[in-house]
Amino acid sequence: MGEQHKCFKELSKVLVEENTRLQFNYLNQNHVFVATERIRNLRDGKKAKRVVASYCPFCGEKLEV
Ligand SMILES: [Zn+2]
Repeated sequence: MGEQHKCFKELSKVLVEENTRLQFNYLNQNHVFVATERIRNLRDGKKAKRVVASYCPFCGEKLEV
């Protein structure tokens, strides 16, 4: 696994001061999750599908996957 993408590193430094962090796949520090939610509550106990960004949402660079 390579180094974490520069925007994620920079943003993490700012967010930590607000007790906040981006959500990553724990197996890959460059797989950042995009927020999702369920459309309808089907009362089946399942959560919304998770999706990761292919390109950095902040600078547009393709992310190493
Ligand atoms: Zn970036």
